[in-house]
Amino acid sequence: MNGCSHLDQIQKVKPNTKGCEECLKMGDRWVHLRLCLSCGHVGCCDSSKNKHATKHFHATKHPIVKSLEPGEDWAWCYVDEVELESV
Ligand SMILES: [Zn+2]
Ligand SMILES: [Zn+2]
Ligand SMILES: [Zn+2]
Repeated sequence: MNGCSHLDQIQKVKPNTKGCEECLKMGDRWVHLRLCLSCGHVGCCDSSKNKHATKHFHATKHPIVKSLEPGEDWAWCYVDEVELESV
């Protein structure tokens, strides 16, 4: 039990873009990348000024993102606010 009830919303996704989708369109920069595990959207983390991963959650209600940083293997549920390991 990890406290997250949204694991059924995880799909076999591949990143849609090589960087934050919105930042690439705007020509902006990001700090770290997060991958939406429901649709493959790539967004920037909350340390980035645009916070597109969080905005994507608010817009779509897709609950779980995974870190796209090399060597990082964790995911985060925005709804339950819990970290998930090896999703
Ligand atoms: Zn959850
Ligand atoms: Zn962004
Ligand atoms: Zn999504």
